[in-house]
Amino acid sequence: MENANGAPVPKATNDDDALAARAAALDAADPLAPLRERFLLPKGVVYLDGNSLGALPAAVPPVIEDVVHRQWGAGLIRSWNENAWWAAPVRVGDAVGGLIGAAPGQTVVGDSTSVQLFNALTAAARLRPNRPLLLTDPGHFPTDQYIADAVGRLLGMEVRRVPPADVAAVLAEAGDRVAATSYSPVDYRTGELYDMAAITDAAHRAGALAVWDLCHAAGALPIRVDELGVDLAVGCGYKFLSGGPGAPAFLYVARRHQADFDHALTGWNGHAEPFGLSGDYRPADGVERARIGTPPILSLLTLEAALTAFDGVDMAEVRAKSLSLTSFFLDCADAVLTELDFTTVTPRDPHRRGSQITLRHPDANALARALAARDVIVDMRAPDMLRFGVNALYVSHADVLAAARQLSEVVLASEHRQERFRTPTVVT
Ligand SMILES: *Cc1c(COP(=O)(O)O)cnc(C)c1O
Repeated sequence: MENANGAPVPKATNDDDALAARAAALDAADPLAPLRERFLLPKGVVYLDGNSLGALPAAVPPVIEDVVHRQWGAGLIRSWNENAWWAAPVRVGDAVGGLIGAAPGQTVVGDSTSVQLFNALTAAARLRPNRPLLLTDPGHFPTDQYIADAVGRLLGMEVRRVPPADVAAVLAEAGDRVAATSYSPVDYRTGELYDMAAITDAAHRAGALAVWDLCHAAGALPIRVDELGVDLAVGCGYKFLSGGPGAPAFLYVARRHQADFDHALTGWNGHAEPFGLSGDYRPADGVERARIGTPPILSLLTLEAALTAFDGVDMAEVRAKSLSLTSFFLDCADAVLTELDFTTVTPRDPHRRGSQITLRHPDANALARALAARDVIVDMRAPDMLRFGVNALYVSHADVLAAARQLSEVVLASEHRQERFRTPTVVT
């Protein structure tokens, strides 16, 4: 193997120096390495939790300053027009759309993923009336399961939990009773990547709609919602999109469904004439009808600034680097974490892997906390999963090696057994 400069990349061995040499060679050949400058990461911190809260993009602070002082402070209410605040939900939606393979005019940003999923599932059910079943993943992120149940209760539908591997078979059998499927391309705990195209096709063959939650996919890997014929999709702004804590989520409504998209939450921003102030609701044309109430402008414009970190970035290159990072992490784990009670949960097959590696360990919580004390930030999911998320825009191979090495040092020194690392983490 050679790097982009034609220099040989040392082969993998269990030798520590060889791992360091490989990390250096891979980083030197990394075409995306300069993108790290687009983020304000504290010196010395290894940040492998961008799958939970993305790092701060350098473009954000000056934009916040401008939005607060000039647009809000000086412009006051005029800024709804003069600084195009009113158009922000769809404008920022189009920017997200560019990262998920959605042509303009199909994505809107606002509210949380939970709320947007509620909107998507109710709309999907109404687009497929007289079909009493919703399928969702028993391993889905909890809010996705709760919201599916809530929609089921509200609309008198049954929610059936079917693992991704079984969806096609269930659809082949009970398909004409299924209104919609609700899945994620990436398992948030294990990092396993599911076949989005196959599940979408199976849903369509049964006449059902495919709803996708892209929280762990948007900004992490190439997603092609238009090309796959996805019907509805949602995702959050604060993970791989780095839009900041509590950044608003997005909702994608394929153009062919927009005329019949019946929003459960008919707010005045989605009205055909929001300033007509009629007492009767009449939906706007296009994806504008997916708007609800007054958008969170500060958060929306923060997300918009954050997305400029992707300017000129090819998602295929992001994917290639992400796989290089996770493959290298697996090699490092094989070399320095053997016989320390770790089990690799994430598939080794790169075609079945998202942008994270998950290791099981009985002391996962204490280990995550001990690593954080060493400025290596990862997270854990109960009861025993340690997650190492890689954002290819700012994580290096050297970071990944440092994380594996420090984890090994912590375990070998039993550092995590200290009292201060015992208490459970409330939020990670
Ligand atoms: C992170 C995540 C969410 C978060 O939902 P919020 O409403 O933004 O808190 C939902 N679903 C999945 C699959 C996630 O990974």
